[in-house]
Amino acid sequence: MRTTRTYLDYNATAPVHDAVRDAVAGALAMAGNPSSTHREGREARRIVEAAREAVARLVRGAPEDVVFTSGGTEANNLAIASALATGAARRVIVSAVEHPSVLEAARGSGAPVDVVPVDAEGTVDLDALARLLAGDDTPALVCLMHANNETGAIQPVVDAARVARAHGAMVHVDAVQTVGRLPVELAALGADSLALSSHKIGGPAGSGALVLRSGVALAPMIRGGGQERGRRSGTENLPGIAGFAAASEIALSHIGDTARIGALRDRLEQCARSASPDLRVWSAGVERLVNTTCFSVPGTKAETLVIALDLAGVAVSSGSACSSGKVAASHVLAAMGVPRDDAAGAVRASLGWGSTSDDVDRFADAWTRIMAARSRKRDIAA
Ligand code: PLP
Repeated sequence: MRTTRTYLDYNATAPVHDAVRDAVAGALAMAGNPSSTHREGREARRIVEAAREAVARLVRGAPEDVVFTSGGTEANNLAIASALATGAARRVIVSAVEHPSVLEAARGSGAPVDVVPVDAEGTVDLDALARLLAGDDTPALVCLMHANNETGAIQPVVDAARVARAHGAMVHVDAVQTVGRLPVELAALGADSLALSSHKIGGPAGSGALVLRSGVALAPMIRGGGQERGRRSGTENLPGIAGFAAASEIALSHIGDTARIGALRDRLEQCARSASPDLRVWSAGVERLVNTTCFSVPGTKAETLVIALDLAGVAVSSGSACSSGKVAASHVLAAMGVPRDDAAGAVRASLGWGSTSDDVDRFADAWTRIMAARSRKRDIAA
């Protein structure tokens, strides 16, 4: 029997587009190393350079400023390590809701780290940022994500960058969750660098990029053969890069799909709320990614809900998706001041290019049954 699955976990990984699969297969079928001078090598090089142009177009950057990496995690690590290694920054300022690849890279760098708090909606406190910058004139790198992967809250990056610049600080923006969902323009954001990831936009995992503002120097983190103009050594991941390029092109042409996806997300929230009127949606009071919803129902455990939904054929995640598979308390919700019990019940549903109205119906059906079973259990216990 074929079971229909409803996949609502695009912020963890988006399903791969058919055109991406073709691009990856095409690259896998090639023999050449992009550094080789023979015809096969030149063909591989052509794919890498065409991909660089496609990724640059995605963020209106310049192709020569795109450095391919193994994903968003490496791009974030590289931005921080490089700013410190070049001496452009000697301390790091991060928001409290950054992805672990920013928080841990900053903490592990050996440089002083300051954390900017967020308000109850998960938006960074710009006054606190200004105070941190004004209180210490050591050159700083400010790291602020464009949108949060758990709640979808969009950060005031342009304003934060303006504050940072006024104090001579550099700005790194983690745009992993926004490319393909919002227009992302490196220069308009005021960023010195942007981290991108292929598998959030329907490309293969293990591929991403750090895109630099023209003129920003980069100190390599990985040294060796001098690939990527010495900025990131190692033979290029040709299938990953080709797939990332195909996904970037699709992401750019599908940016208008946001109205459709936003309407699906809103209906999903309405359905969830009608089956559980005490449901609370986090970051609902600020501008959010239209594909994302993160909510809690008092007295429920996220793991229980995720398992129950999974059994009903619906894939969502609990708070943040953990690489180890274990569910840890969300540092994002904690930073927003969400009570522990509520945070422990937070479920995230995230939609994307393949999401349909039927997906919302199947979610609504499963959620309604789970909530009804829960209240029957409570009635029996009472
Ligand atoms: N930054 C954000 C906001 C993310 O959501 C993720 C992935 O979950 C990453 C960075 C890491 O990207 P990658 O999985 O490509 O290493």
